Amino acid sequence: MHPFLLEKRDEVRNPKPKEWTSKELSQQKIASYKPYNFVDGEGVRCSLYVSGCPFACEGCYNVIAQNFNYGIPYTHELEEQILADLSASYCQGLTLLGGEPFLNTEVCLSLVNAIRQRFGATKDIWSWSGYTWEELMLDTQDKLELLSKIDILVDGRFDIKKKDLTLQFRGSSNQRIIDVQKSLKQGEVILWDKLKK
Ligand code: SF4
Repeated sequence: MHPFLLEKRDEVRNPKPKEWTSKELSQQKIASYKPYNFVDGEGVRCSLYVSGCPFACEGCYNVIAQNFNYGIPYTHELEEQILADLSASYCQGLTLLGGEPFLNTEVCLSLVNAIRQRFGATKDIWSWSGYTWEELMLDTQDKLELLSKIDILVDGRFDIKKKDLTLQFRGSSNQRIIDVQKSLKQGEVILWDKLKK
């Protein structure tokens, strides 16, 4: 078994490029699925919390989901349920969080591809990640593929020293809300144009 599945850790880990892979770490499990919530991004959203995150930030909001073995397996039935929930006209889109979506790319790509196939660009996709934009740019192909298919990335580890509960959709001031498609096109980080704080 991979050491991340066993080892407990009290300080944040900083991976080298391509050091952690979904192929090696993901157990394709999810910690939780929450349809129709108002807190995980703009508008009414369906949120999928995948299991497993090795960053081990101090003050992590979802410690239980750091374990790749926590929760229940992701299934075709759940994917169909999420697609059905997303079809509601008042539902703006999907949010991926965790755990670490970019270390659960099989699950996330399956869902994201199904959403694009069924809804095109009429539903938006947000994802949180402990990776920064710059780290993802140097990482594995599956991470870049997932990034290329989403609209908004909230990036970076939670840094308890920079904690600020007044920020929109993020817990510490180092984290950014990034417009992924504009950033990829322009080759630099472009922040979400609706950012207030
Ligand atoms: S990146 Fe997020 S989920 Fe992972 S340990 Fe840090 S706060 Fe928790």
